[in-house]
Amino acid sequence: MNYDAVILDVDGTIVRGEQLLAGAPDGIRAIDDAGCKRLLFSNNPTRGAAHYRERLAAHDLTVDPENVLTSATVSAAYLADEHPTDPIYVVGEPRLRAILEDAGLTLTDEPTSAAVVLGSIDRDLTYAALEAAIPALQAAEAFYGTDPDVIIPTGSGMSPGSGAVIGSLEAMAGREVDAMLGKPSQIAAEAALERLAVPPERTLMIGDRLNTDVELGRRAGMDTALVTTGVMDRDDVAAAEYEPTYVLDSLAGLAGVLE
Ligand SMILES: [Mg+2]
Repeated sequence: MNYDAVILDVDGTIVRGEQLLAGAPDGIRAIDDAGCKRLLFSNNPTRGAAHYRERLAAHDLTVDPENVLTSATVSAAYLADEHPTDPIYVVGEPRLRAILEDAGLTLTDEPTSAAVVLGSIDRDLTYAALEAAIPALQAAEAFYGTDPDVIIPTGSGMSPGSGAVIGSLEAMAGREVDAMLGKPSQIAAEAALERLAVPPERTLMIGDRLNTDVELGRRAGMDTALVTTGVMDRDDVAAAEYEPTYVLDSLAGLAGVLE
């Protein structure tokens, strides 16, 4: 057996919206049958672990919330380590704020008192909110983003994601974020490997995006698999600088990889 653990992306890999993707149950069964640990890692910065347990339970897939990370939970854990008492100014959604507050962090709505700015998707973002962030960006010493996805699929097309909001903040700040905390960062990879207690060379990272899922694995020294059930296809792989170890038509292809 080549692997002791598999890290799985969720959207575009296991589900699309409320729909379970073909091959997903077979792929997850293959992981379990191979005796591998599995960890779900979503870059959705508006959801915590419990959401995924419930969402996948609806499809008869059992998920231990201890083995679920999101860019929100990883951001909360990182900020709790590095900025436990610093006032954090969030450009993001209410559910992200709630996850940060649950982790004991101090959020501020007063831009000039910000020590940290965290940028993320905000589907109610206004011009006034961007304007209010300018003094926060000037006051803060640290500046982070939850995840880099610039556009994300919706039911009807594509929408701006965290990367679009963070890009605006970066432009106004005149500097880049100190770190993106979700995939593909080293912070995210370390959080996943620590949770699994498995070394990177015994871990397979699988997802539907080259720039986040596959890139996290590449940087961390894991084997990687791209599934073409989400936003990227074999043409994207052909055009990419780094090829994943495996390209699979669906998660069902894991049976061949893990046997
Ligand atoms: Mg995905």
